Amino acid sequence: MDSSAVASTIRMLGGIARTSQLRARGASRMQVARAAERGAIERVRTGVYAAGLLPPDVRRAAAHGGEVGCASALRQRGVWVWEPDERLHVWVGPDARVHPHDGCRCVTHRDAGGAAFGVVSISRALVQCASCLGSEVFFAAFESAWALGLLTAADRGEVRASLPARFRWLVDIARPDAGSGLESLLRLRLLRLGIQLECQVVIAGVGRVDFVLEGCIVLEVDGRLNHEGPSLRHRDLVRDAAAAAAGYETLRFDYAMVIHDWPRVERAILARLQVHRAAGVRSGIPR
Ligand SMILES: [Zn+2]
Ligand SMILES: [Zn+2]
Repeated sequence: MDSSAVASTIRMLGGIARTSQLRARGASRMQVARAAERGAIERVRTGVYAAGLLPPDVRRAAAHGGEVGCASALRQRGVWVWEPDERLHVWVGPDARVHPHDGCRCVTHRDAGGAAFGVVSISRALVQCASCLGSEVFFAAFESAWALGLLTAADRGEVRASLPARFRWLVDIARPDAGSGLESLLRLRLLRLGIQLECQVVIAGVGRVDFVLEGCIVLEVDGRLNHEGPSLRHRDLVRDAAAAAAGYETLRFDYAMVIHDWPRVERAILARLQVHRAAGVRSGIPR
């Protein structure tokens, strides 16, 4: 087998392959080594070779010893994953060796199954994400994937069945219409506080608001950046005035507060709700 045939065999196998796979298809060790020397293929690590264009994450995961998984596989599909340092998550399977490589900060996943090269399925990535990054990150990623149209009913069932039991309720309360990852996170935290809320509520004269808590507080989470200017701020103030006229109090937080300063947000919400409850402000204000 000449060097270009070795390269096209690797491309046929998905762009990355082990020497053993190439030998099974008729390439000798010598021919593989020669193809690498000539630059027709690229050595990823001992016994693993690539040909053609390969996404950088797939290449690094192969160097580490497996497939792009968990948060990295979700991010690659555009799913919102809340992870401050965005490390590469690699699924290597239960027994595989992990290989040292330059700049390795990978998170190694050892759940059962035969890891190869490439990117894990979205269902597997979500299941990995739950155990690796916890219930809030999983929940927001699950709703984000669903909102993007990446999860069929069969996928959702598969995720639920494969999850450890303590995470399954999150699938049951998830919605397909979350507006943002931040919204998912906030909704979960409020549910855990036992706060009754409605999402994406249309209030006459105000428009659509993110959340209404117990029929009396409008909660808006601002994901915008400040440099988007005074006109939006003016619009928000007009909305708040309209909401007040309709009998609602508006609480407004930004992304940084919800993510980095949740206790402050929680105290504010609980304190205002207590005031409303004590004053006997009823839900069911006409909309
Ligand atoms: Zn992970
Ligand atoms: Zn690594």
